[in-house]
Amino acid sequence: MTSRLKKVELHCHLEGAAPPALSLAQARKYNIDVSEYLKDGTYVWHDFASFLECYDKISEVYKSAEDYALLTETYLAELADVGSIYSELIVSPDHGKRIGLGADAYIEGVCEGIRRAREASGIEARLIVTGERHFGPDSVVGAAEYAAKAQNPLITGFNLAGEERMGRVADYARAFDIARDIGLGLTIHAGEVCGAFSVADALDVVRPARIGHGVRAIEDSALVSRLADLGTVLEVCPGSNIALKVFPDFASHPLRKLKEAGVRVTISSDDPPFFHTSLKREYDLAASAFGFSDAEIDQLTRTGIEAAFVDEETRQALLARI
Ligand SMILES: [Zn+2]
Repeated sequence: MTSRLKKVELHCHLEGAAPPALSLAQARKYNIDVSEYLKDGTYVWHDFASFLECYDKISEVYKSAEDYALLTETYLAELADVGSIYSELIVSPDHGKRIGLGADAYIEGVCEGIRRAREASGIEARLIVTGERHFGPDSVVGAAEYAAKAQNPLITGFNLAGEERMGRVADYARAFDIARDIGLGLTIHAGEVCGAFSVADALDVVRPARIGHGVRAIEDSALVSRLADLGTVLEVCPGSNIALKVFPDFASHPLRKLKEAGVRVTISSDDPPFFHTSLKREYDLAASAFGFSDAEIDQLTRTGIEAAFVDEETRQALLARI
């Protein structure tokens, strides 16, 4: 339905985008039994705890820099196939460390995947380094310091992900100061699991250009006006929100209300195959579930490019392709 529209994605966790067929091939390669978590080409989980368990188990089948190159290349090729011209991938150097590969080799593998995909289809991509809230403020500072030290032109943003209920945003302010100082674009998960206060917290402490999700800002009309006035861009992931029951159904999802209130919104897929979605499906839902016209959907895409963490030359080149 939206196949002919150009697409961009600002919010997607790399490991969360792992295509099931590739994960199965990887599991066979390493002789890892994933049958409990991957059945008939679909990831299997039934509540938040089992979602995390499934996610971790699937991440285990990607071990080497080449595995990460292949994962990145495969996901970006899938995006390019449905008309995507730009993607930002959320990556965690800590994850590279935890699996024993090392942060540098992990990031190098991902960058190699980006280069291969760009060569094949012209798709542009950048990386957002993320800290994981549930590993505590020191580990998040470590992620920001890693991004600062790496001086990798493909790393253009910094994010805070993980368990939103853990601590307050202020505990993580120093990490964002480090990232801001070296010129990274700032975004932060808020207003998904936690209510409107978490979005206000993010605005007060981090002053981010974008917020990951942010949809529960709808609970506070003054906050919605503040987002509109500031021009803060929300990376909205409707399929993820419904899969995790942030809202019971698409009819009660506030995407359209936020847009009509003047908030700058974009659409992304978050952890697509885990939520039985894809960027293509999110675009289709923008039309079928939210009633946006093609022109309105193009506007969401344009907002995504305007808010992308890229240099101006790349931004203008991307805008020219819409
Ligand atoms: Zn996310």
